[in-house]
Formats: sequence, C-alpha cells, structure tokens
Amino acid sequence: MTKSTKNQERIQRFVCPGCSLYCDDNQIVFSKNNEILETYGLCLKGYKKINEINSKNRIKNPLIRKNGVLKEVSLDEALNKVKELINSSQKPLLYGFVNTTCEAQINGIHLAKKINGFIESNASICHGQTYSNVIESGLNSTTLNECINKADVFIFWGSNAAESHPKFLTRTIFSRGKFRITGREIKTLILIDPRETATYGVAGARDLYLPLKPGKDLELIQFLKDMILKEKSEVPADGFVGIDKQDLNRFILNLKGSENGVILFGQGVINSNPNGNVIKALIELVDLINETSKRSRFSIIPMTGHNMNGFIQVSLSLLGKMGQIEFSNNQLVESKKELISKIKDDEFDMSIIVASDPISNLPITLSSKLTKKPIIAIDCFITPTTRLADVVLPVAIAGIETDGLVYRMDNIPMNLQKIIDPPANLPSDEQILLKIIQKMEE
Ligand code: SF4
Repeated sequence: MTKSTKNQERIQRFVCPGCSLYCDDNQIVFSKNNEILETYGLCLKGYKKINEINSKNRIKNPLIRKNGVLKEVSLDEALNKVKELINSSQKPLLYGFVNTTCEAQINGIHLAKKINGFIESNASICHGQTYSNVIESGLNSTTLNECINKADVFIFWGSNAAESHPKFLTRTIFSRGKFRITGREIKTLILIDPRETATYGVAGARDLYLPLKPGKDLELIQFLKDMILKEKSEVPADGFVGIDKQDLNRFILNLKGSENGVILFGQGVINSNPNGNVIKALIELVDLINETSKRSRFSIIPMTGHNMNGFIQVSLSLLGKMGQIEFSNNQLVESKKELISKIKDDEFDMSIIVASDPISNLPITLSSKLTKKPIIAIDCFITPTTRLADVVLPVAIAGIETDGLVYRMDNIPMNLQKIIDPPANLPSDEQILLKIIQKMEE
C-alpha cells in the first residue's frame, strides 16, 4: 500500500523479516528523500531488524585475508579467491541459509551441486528433526490465520514466544478473530517450561503454568497418552514430573475439551531428550487426541526460526530430501552424515557460510574445527564468523534491501519486499551465490 500526503512522500506496507512470523501488518513512513521517518506495527525485535540498515557493523566491501589480516578488495578479486579456495577443496561444506530468501537457498543448492559439496541449513541443529518426523508420520498442523480466528487453547511447550516471535501473542491470543465477539477472555494460555520465561508475564487467572522438570517431556507425553487411552486413571497425589495434581488435571481437561487447540513447541522440546524421539511422541499425542476426543481438535506448529521452513520446502522440492544433502560428480548421493558429524569427524576441508554465524552458535568443539579450515562468509555484518573468515562477501539485507520469497512458521509462503536500496549497491545473497556459480564456470 502506498499513500502520499503533503509532508510525507509515502507510506508503504512492510513484511518484517525479523522472525519466522513475517508479520505483514507493519507500515513504514518514508521522507521525500526515501529515508525512513517512522515505523508502525513493528515489535522491538522487528524495529531492531529494520535499524540494521544503519548498523556500524555493516560490511560494505569484499574482504580477503592477507598476511593474517582482512583487507578490502574488489568484488572480482574476492570472487577469484573464492574460486581458488573452492578449486583446491575436495569436500566443501555449505551451511546457514536461514536468515535469507528461498531464491538464495535455491542458488546455494545449485552451488553445492556444482562444487560437489555438502549443504545443510541451520534446521539441521534445530527443527530439522521435527520435519524428519513429519515426513514419516504427517502432522496435524494449522495456519496462523486459523489460530487467530479459531484457536481457544494455546500451549507453548519449550518455547518462549514473547521473545522469539514477539507479535505471536498479540496477533493470536489478544485478538478476537473473525468469528467471535470474544477475545482473550475465552482463550487459555498453557506454558510448559522449567523456567518462567517472558511469555509467563502475559499469563492470567484462567491460564496454566506447568513447571515441567528438565528432560521430562517424553515422560509427560507418555503419561498424557495413557490418561487419554484410560490406561491410567489418576494423577499421582504428589503430581508428576514437577507438575502438581490439580494443574495436570486442568491440563488434561483442556486437551480433551478445547474446541481448537494448538501446540507451539520450540527448541526446549527438541533439546529435552536428544536420545528419545520426543517429537514423534508429541505428534502421536496430538493424533490420539484428535482420534479419541468427540469435541477437541488439536494442531501443532513448530516454532521455527526465520526462513528455516523455506530451506526445507526448497530442498524437498528440488531434491526430495531436506538434510544430509551431499553431491558427488554433480549428482546427489547418499550421505550417512549430517552437519554435526561432518564437522566432528573433519569430513570437510573448507566451508561456505551464508547468512549465519556458526562460530557464535555452534559448540566450541565444533566451531573451533571450522576455524581450522578456510571459511568463505557471505553476510551483511561483522560477526565472529566473518572476523575469522578468509573471504567475506558482503550482501544486502534480505527482506529490507532485497525482495524474496520466504515460508512463514506455518509454512505459508510470503513475499518480502525491498523497501530501500542497499549501500554500495551490494548484491543480494541470491545474486552473490549466482556470481560464484558463474565464476566457477569461467
Ligand atoms: S514478531 Fe517477528 S516478524 Fe513480527 S514484527 Fe516482530 S520481529 Fe518482525
């Protein structure tokens, strides 16, 4: 939407790329000189995201490490160095691809194929295992709009929406939706977390906080299944896995009696039991509720990060798989390894990192291994990864300085729209990856 008034040149609708909620209810007011004057609708996280355009940490020129120091060079010199590093590599590793667009993800996969690399996104250390289960068992899922209009019970399980996806609560729990004249007063919030997170701060009298003991998610799910199947009939008097009897009974009543419930689970569930299949059990629990309850209908939405779902959609549609993507002789081959074991077992000899900061985010045992091999980093900002890279290719900020497709946390495709030109005419992730592909063909 564009509107002109006397003093301001235009107001533009803006899809925020700040998290996987990709809120499309924001507006930006531009001056006649195309400077951002004001923003409406953004949460603090989204506001910080848009302010990245003024970040002092912005990288505006390509960099190459010379005598141990990163030096500014021309794009052509940087691309020649990239080609040299790739040509001397037998086992390149490509990683990241979440804080970017599907177009960049597609080019990342094309590049991996061309250079016989192994490619995974950040999903491999996050919701990758969720979607591996979904491929096998399916998922009773729903959309954000259904949550807004129909959901009456919201269960945040090992996820802290108030911080990870700040407008989720205002857009769903605090909204009325199309079909009701009531709002928050008929919506129940249930928080399952060992910690009282920021989301706990919005809980009211009708809501429930269940302080589940760490690592006990699988036990709780099995207990709930037994209660629903009537293999257990009573909650122990002293409660179960840290939750008191009365609260657990209320929780079970909500599972059996809600009109339209949704479970939004996050990293807390994934990390709770790395050796047990807690995601599979959660999917089965929801299937069981839907099969056995006359009244209740439950759905699951994994609280993914940024465009994680985009990489899953793109890789599934291009290759039929979403992880352990490895090429040899420019063909997809079976790989028994995933990102962590590849790094752990030193099965790579260089890395190309796109829109990610694994030096900060991976455990030190893995990140230190990355630093021992050449790193090509494609990023907008100075990060620990770009600081340690051998080549840094700066890019425009996806969704602010470039257009592009992304998939929202509920797997709805959304178009991000460029609102401002990047500094120094920087290319997008998509364009720089294409330039590398073209350079390799010269
Ligand atoms: S919730 Fe996420 S997408 Fe929505 S405005 Fe905040 S940061 Fe942006």
